[in-house]
Amino acid sequence: MAPNRLARSVSIVSTVVLVMVLAASAISCGQAKQSSDKIGVAVTILPQAEFVESIGGDRINVTVMVPPGADPHTTELTPSKMTEVAEAKMYAKVGSGIEFELSYMDKIEAVNKNMLVVDCSKGIELVTSVDPNEPGMDPHIWVSPLNAKIMVQNICDSLVQVDPANKDYYEQNRDAYLQKLDALDQEIRSSLANIKNRAFIVLHPAWGYFAKDYDLEQIPIEISGKEPSAQDITRIIDEAKQRNIKIIFASPQFNPQMAEVIANEIGGKVVLIDDLARDYIENLHKVLDEMVQAME
Ligand SMILES: [Zn+2]
Repeated sequence: MAPNRLARSVSIVSTVVLVMVLAASAISCGQAKQSSDKIGVAVTILPQAEFVESIGGDRINVTVMVPPGADPHTTELTPSKMTEVAEAKMYAKVGSGIEFELSYMDKIEAVNKNMLVVDCSKGIELVTSVDPNEPGMDPHIWVSPLNAKIMVQNICDSLVQVDPANKDYYEQNRDAYLQKLDALDQEIRSSLANIKNRAFIVLHPAWGYFAKDYDLEQIPIEISGKEPSAQDITRIIDEAKQRNIKIIFASPQFNPQMAEVIANEIGGKVVLIDDLARDYIENLHKVLDEMVQAME
């Protein structure tokens, strides 16, 4: 992926943010800390909010750093989010190299040194991104329910560390949510069992781990956040025609224009699927339905 896209603006913005946050925390220091006995947990992306809430229930308050509709490859850290994170007891980072964290984790950790930072990717095997020009790892680990199970374990272990008195409550909730993830995994397997043509075309290649775990093939249009060249487009159109692919997937966070150009050429259509929805399980059901229809 292209962290240098961010580099120019990051250093200026982050300096300003840090100064503002330090000022804000100096003012609020010592006050209002006891106003809520809920445990503040910050996460990077929306799907993690469902994971944390499913385990923490009414004992926790979640702050999501990358807001709805924003793209974690380019989102900047705002002063208000820094103020919220300064109050958190725990930060669940994705940990797989998503740009928001590469750019800002240092600052986030610096503003709240007592916060427990958990790496949700611990125990997940990263795979290389589909970008032939860049040897990076694919950061979109959460799209596979099997990886989500590991992320949920990691979050629960850390919540227990932060609040050992409620260990049983957290672990019961964790087990209930893991069962739902197992049921989702089973449903995906059975729904895809008889699909012959297992390739799908997607604008932003966020579905690599889903493809890997369910034996599908992800064909990306956009490579490492860059617009495809005319050659790339011709190649994708040819491939789509050859393999009889009629659906081009795009995510709501990205401009679907390029996907529409290709869909027109192959007489197909663009369908939106979201890798960043807050209602993780519900959303993957929808994605599964769309994929089954697209590939059958
Ligand atoms: Zn992405």
